[in-house]
Formats: sequence, C-alpha cells, structure tokens
Amino acid sequence: MLLEVQDLKKHFPVRGGGAVRAVDGVSFAVDAGQTFALVGESGCGKTTIAKLLLLLEKPTGGAIRFDGRDVLTLNRKAVQGYRRQVQAVFQDPSSSLNPRLKVRMLLAEPLLAHGLGGDRAALQRRLLELLEIVGLPPGALELYPHEFSGGQRQRIAVARALALQPRLIVLDEPTSALDVSIRAQIVNLLADIQRSFGLAYVVIAHDLALVEHFSSAVGVMYLGAMAESGPSEAVFGAPRHPYTQALLGSAPRPDPDHQPTEGLIVGEIGSALAPPSGCRFHPRCPHAMPVCGQQAPAMRAMGTVEVVGGRDAGLAHLAACHLLDRGRATVSVELVNDVATIP
Ligand code: SF4
Repeated sequence: MLLEVQDLKKHFPVRGGGAVRAVDGVSFAVDAGQTFALVGESGCGKTTIAKLLLLLEKPTGGAIRFDGRDVLTLNRKAVQGYRRQVQAVFQDPSSSLNPRLKVRMLLAEPLLAHGLGGDRAALQRRLLELLEIVGLPPGALELYPHEFSGGQRQRIAVARALALQPRLIVLDEPTSALDVSIRAQIVNLLADIQRSFGLAYVVIAHDLALVEHFSSAVGVMYLGAMAESGPSEAVFGAPRHPYTQALLGSAPRPDPDHQPTEGLIVGEIGSALAPPSGCRFHPRCPHAMPVCGQQAPAMRAMGTVEVVGGRDAGLAHLAACHLLDRGRATVSVELVNDVATIP
C-alpha cells in the first residue's frame, strides 16, 4: 500500500481550554494508480487531512505511512524526499500560482529547489515535456498566469505538481473554481496522467458526480470522523450510513432517473469544539435512537471482510452506525421523509 493513514487526529487547542477536534481518528489507504476521495460538508475535516498529508500541519495522534515508512518520524532529509514524492494541486490556480512569475519559472522552481534542474538544455527539455503532458503549447513558457484561462491555469498547476515526478498528488477541490464546461477536461487530464504514470491521488471534493466517476474508493466524513468508506461502487451503489444516503440523495447526479431531494439533511454540521456525544450525526439523523446519543458507533465491515487497523480501509466497505450493529443493514433515503421502512 503506498499511503496508509491510521487513526489520524488533529486537535487545535483553543484559548480558555478545550480543543477543536478537526480530525478525530480517521483511517484510509490508497495504492499506486488508485484514487481515494474524501467527501463531506464544509467543516468535516477533509481539508485538515490534506494539510496533514502535506506536512503543513502536525498531527495530534495517529500515523501516516508512505511506502511502509512512518512519515511522522522521518529525519529532515527523508522529509524532503517525502515532500518531493507527495505534491498538491489546489482549488484556485489564480491564488496558488505566483502571478509575478512566468510559467517557465513556475515549472522550473520546484526542480531547482530540489537540485533536479540539470543543465540548461535538460531543464528546457523537462519544461517542454511537462507542458506537453498537460496539453499546453511550448510558447506558454514565456507567459504569465493571468494570460491564461482558468482551465489552462489549472493545467499549469498540474504541470508544476508533476515536475518532481511525485507518486501521490493531493487534489484539493481541483475543479470547483472552474467553469462547468472545463471541469470534465481537467478530470480527463488527471485520469490520463494517472494512467500514464501510475500516480495515486487523494481527492478532497464536494462534487459527488466528480468523485463517483473519478475515484476508486471514497471516504464520507462527518465532523472530523469517517462515517462510511469503501470502494466507490459499493458506497455509491449501496450506501449504508444515513448521512451518506442523505448526502447522495440531495446531490445532483448524472443519472437521468435521479431526482435530487431537497432538505434531506437538516440543520448545521455542528461544532468540532464540542461534538455531539455518541454518534456525531445524531442531532440531525432521522433514525436516531437513544443509544445514538450515548455511544459512538464503531466502524464495521459490511460483508465478511476483516479489517486490521487501517490497512484495509478504503478497500473494505465500512460504516459506523448503530442501525448496522442491530443488523438493520439497509435504510432507505425516503425514511428521512418518514415514508419508507427499515427492512
Ligand atoms: Fe443515525 Fe444512530 Fe446511525 Fe448515528 S448511529 S447515523 S444517529 S442511526
């Protein structure tokens, strides 16, 4: 497994005591050539996970293993090697690309910083190669970011992320700042690049249509914790957690028979400073039972897959809900409107 995240925690202490538990025990894994998507409402902790993976924040607890090595105990030189292998593409290329630098320098910068520029001719060859990979002409090297469209700027950001030949790219909402007409082009480009180079992606996204078609596995987060995770086909095809069902039920989907349902998720996500006791979703869950406010449900495998630590997270279909503990495995989305029954 290329990346294994196990019981990852990030708590931000607050003045006056207590802590915002932005990430509170999250596990997942992704292998080369695979895409793991993290989805959930704003404030669920997915962007904090991106920062933890990029070592922009230090975890409070848990482990991040890359290629079998614990990233959090690496020495400075090894951290530099990790940073080279794990790159990022952010939501808005207008703010992630320095507007004062020409594309030539934007692409050369990471190579020079890591001493991988080579001689002038080798650097020029590499820059042209990067432009070709992302479908931009050689003349782009002499232009500034503002001289490109939003989609082209995101191509430049992808080229910059590829410069160091990473093995994993964290894609933080890679298409949400783009026109709808351009999004598919960027998704196709990312998929082509993944196939060509065997890259692993961790995608942070709220666009479920993008996630469904782009990711091999998905994790649905709620208030710092994983509500459900597993292969995309399983999670999208047979969601087991009421929150996942509500999220999918209310989202626009490419399926012509799918009618988005308004108002399935009521209320606000709540505060990570004082998360609800028991199941964090219980104040908003239409199926909440007395036990839900008292005990946090454990993540359990749907079917017969054994899960050891975080190793199989992302491969096995897992969900945390007391309904599933009681063997009432399938809950219809319509239940939210009090019309269907639990089988
Ligand atoms: Fe709803 Fe209870 Fe399941 Fe939480 S554990 S999702 S409150 S039924």
